[in-house]
Amino acid sequence: MASVELTNIRKVYGGGVEAVKGINIAIDDGALCVLVGPSGCGKSTLLRMIAGLETITEGVLKIENSVVNDLGPAERDIAMVFQNYALYPHMKVYDNMAYGLRNRGMPKGEIDKRVREAAQTLELGHLLERRPRELSGGQRQRVAMGRAIVRNPKVFLFDEPLSNLDAKLRGQMRVEIKNLQRQLGVTSVYVTHDQLEAMTLADILVVMNGGVVEQIGAPLDIYEKPASTFVASFIGAPPMNLVHVTANSAGLLLKDGTHIGAEGLAIPAEGAQIGFRPEDLEVVAGSQQHIGGLLLDLTVRGVEPVGAESYVYGDIGGDKVVVRVAGRSVVEPGDHLRVIVPKEKLHLFDAKGKRI
Ligand code: ADP
Repeated sequence: MASVELTNIRKVYGGGVEAVKGINIAIDDGALCVLVGPSGCGKSTLLRMIAGLETITEGVLKIENSVVNDLGPAERDIAMVFQNYALYPHMKVYDNMAYGLRNRGMPKGEIDKRVREAAQTLELGHLLERRPRELSGGQRQRVAMGRAIVRNPKVFLFDEPLSNLDAKLRGQMRVEIKNLQRQLGVTSVYVTHDQLEAMTLADILVVMNGGVVEQIGAPLDIYEKPASTFVASFIGAPPMNLVHVTANSAGLLLKDGTHIGAEGLAIPAEGAQIGFRPEDLEVVAGSQQHIGGLLLDLTVRGVEPVGAESYVYGDIGGDKVVVRVAGRSVVEPGDHLRVIVPKEKLHLFDAKGKRI
């Protein structure tokens, strides 16, 4: 087990593309760190640099307090689990798991012990004689993890390991990976573009965008206090609503010129965006009096019942919003609603999208 520390890590590819622009992350021994962000934000590049599969242009990478920048992949004591499993189709499960250890010349008895132990942990004991094509997607994924576990590495690296699985299985495997990682206590770095996977797995969540870290922290802290509009819209589904506001002498204006009550909001001269989560809006009944919140008019554009709740889509002052309501929704497209956002549920971002 080992801590992983990245200091000012940069990657400039041959063609001059700066894929990673100076990143700092400290991962405690045994923690699961998830790198999340849209396609092209540099997360795979960062993972590959940790693995030693890609050179580090600048910065320092430490594993267990030793600089490993110049060590090859095999010398870093890291095991990687990929999206496509990369299992050998002609080999039995047992041999797939044993392969890497045999290559290192490990004694047969020790290999057998490790493979059987890992198989037990992963509930693969009864499948050791099968070939990959005789397994389900989830079982194959477990074999891929087994192959990583038997190496007893200092660090696990996961590169979108669940993206080939269907949604239901992905949910189950997410729980399995989380439990397994806890049980083994191996420091892990996990790359995904799926915010839900990121939220549910991470001890420490790193939200990346355009080669930089937008925010780093515990998942729920990030959810509750996103550092930017980018993070606010990336983390959470449906995402946080963002409504543009400007101030003039008469008060606050929305994008389409609608006036709203000031409610003590200090809006900078350049304007701002107010943010609120879909679950933080309350629909106000006719004459009901409300204090301590921002009162807004919402025009309903569509309703999506998803079972336990419904998503009401609409717009507020020219910006698109979504509201989560419990159970069935009684509203219909074209309806006008008065909604209130309690003051403590409001987020404020400046014109550049930074949290105020
Ligand atoms: P992500 O994993 O978040 O989708 P990547 O790390 O794959 O992002 O890519 C980050 C950026 O680096 C992208 O602009 C991508 O086009 C570029 N890139 C990735 N690999 C290479 C490469 N081998 N050569 C040049 N540019 C690359």
